[in-house]
Amino acid sequence: MELSTLARIVIDTLITTETFPYMWRDPLMACARADDPLFLRLKEVVTPDHLMPDDLLKGAKSVIVYFIPFRREIGIDNSSNYPFASELWARAYIETNTLISTINERLSGFLSLHGYRSAITPPTHNFDPELLVSRWSHKHIGFIAGLGTFGLHRLLITPLGCCGRLGSIVTDAYIEPSKYQKEEICLERRGTKCSKCASRCPVQAIGSNGEFNRKECYRMLLENDRRYGHLPLTDVCGHCSCEVPCSYGVPTYQASQELP
Ligand code: SF4
Ligand code: SF4
Repeated sequence: MELSTLARIVIDTLITTETFPYMWRDPLMACARADDPLFLRLKEVVTPDHLMPDDLLKGAKSVIVYFIPFRREIGIDNSSNYPFASELWARAYIETNTLISTINERLSGFLSLHGYRSAITPPTHNFDPELLVSRWSHKHIGFIAGLGTFGLHRLLITPLGCCGRLGSIVTDAYIEPSKYQKEEICLERRGTKCSKCASRCPVQAIGSNGEFNRKECYRMLLENDRRYGHLPLTDVCGHCSCEVPCSYGVPTYQASQELP
């Protein structure tokens, strides 16, 4: 099966979702082989009980991952509410989770029509509440599929930036795997001074040497959830992904100099 056919479904779902047509840009999509040896590494680098594709779907052959980038207006709005998340950002989170569920249902329906099985994973809140790590990490799977590389902020930076959301689906259809993204995209990881994400973090959760204070970050997310108590669960922040050099595309040295 062609990845481009499935990508079309994602784009069409995005376009026909009329609630917030101004929220998203065109998505990116990639595919990993379900038996890619890098999946096993997730038990070491994420959590020992990280799920394998076969745990979700016996006989899985492919894992499809997609990135839905936000429009810059959403990132600007969030940044203007610093140190808290903006209400528009919180609503974008909720709407994008709904969108991801709709996309997964449509992809699954399409695969089923062609005689393939699939397993859908929730867009979020599939993490260990104590360790605050995910048992199905969309961003790590995005890395395996070649969608991007990690930044100092621990987010996946794609060619369309890091300001957006990821979704994934496992299937027993064979889809040609995408190529690994070999070169680092993050400026710091390319040896160029940046650290804008770290200086944007309201709780100093991002260390300049790659350390990450997960508990402090989560505290901030819950603070925003309390702030938007009239909305469904919105444990969000996102300041490390908004208005930094890697927010909306591949970061450049010039952007790192221009941004405050
Ligand atoms: S803001 Fe700079 S240092 Fe942080 S992840 Fe993006 S490119 Fe890397
Ligand atoms: S989401 Fe917010 S609190 Fe967490 S690391 Fe990013 S900027 Fe810091």
